[in-house]
Amino acid sequence: MSDAIPEPEPLILDRLIACPQCDGLHRDADLSNGLRARCHRCGTLLIAPRAEAFLQVMMLSVTVAILMVGAVFFPFLSVQAAGLSHDGSVFDAVRAFSGPILAPLSVMVLFLIVLIPILRVIAIVYTLWPLTRGQPPYRHAAVAFRAAERLRPWSMTEIFMIGTAVALVKIGGMATVSFGPAFWAFGALVIVLVLEDTFMCKWTIWKAIDTSTPRS
Ligand SMILES: [Zn+2]
Repeated sequence: MSDAIPEPEPLILDRLIACPQCDGLHRDADLSNGLRARCHRCGTLLIAPRAEAFLQVMMLSVTVAILMVGAVFFPFLSVQAAGLSHDGSVFDAVRAFSGPILAPLSVMVLFLIVLIPILRVIAIVYTLWPLTRGQPPYRHAAVAFRAAERLRPWSMTEIFMIGTAVALVKIGGMATVSFGPAFWAFGALVIVLVLEDTFMCKWTIWKAIDTSTPRS
């Protein structure tokens, strides 16, 4: 009983990485290009080689911006009933809420399904553009990337598509509905957003920002 209990090895928090899905803790590792590290419990991608991942995420972000323009301004749906036909875009829908009670709703719709995804794209491109070219990150890269991460739960393009699908089931019985180009643009947008999340290795991006930023 007189044996002294050995001191535990000090934990270097900077070298630990937590799985975003299951909170499993792992030690970090510097991987060469082509290797990937996944969570040993749930298989979530933890570390991806930087050159490849940065470029993929940035290109997907630019794709989001292009699709978003089409998704907002092109006709979304065309409804025909009793010989009458009406086209509507998301932009028309946002403008349709007027008056003191409904105006805040139109601002919210605009923010949640259009402006916040666009702001995230700008922040991600700002963060990754110099990194993809092997240059040091811009001065406010950490602020921009943190903002992109904070805004993620508020980017509700997918929720909008689910809401639209539910509404279409209701309308389908009363009128003939046909989809405009914006509907397909939104569908593609949801897939691209999922791909972007899949390729985005936050740990690698943070590490690149952290190790290249001059400390004061
Ligand atoms: Zn996990």
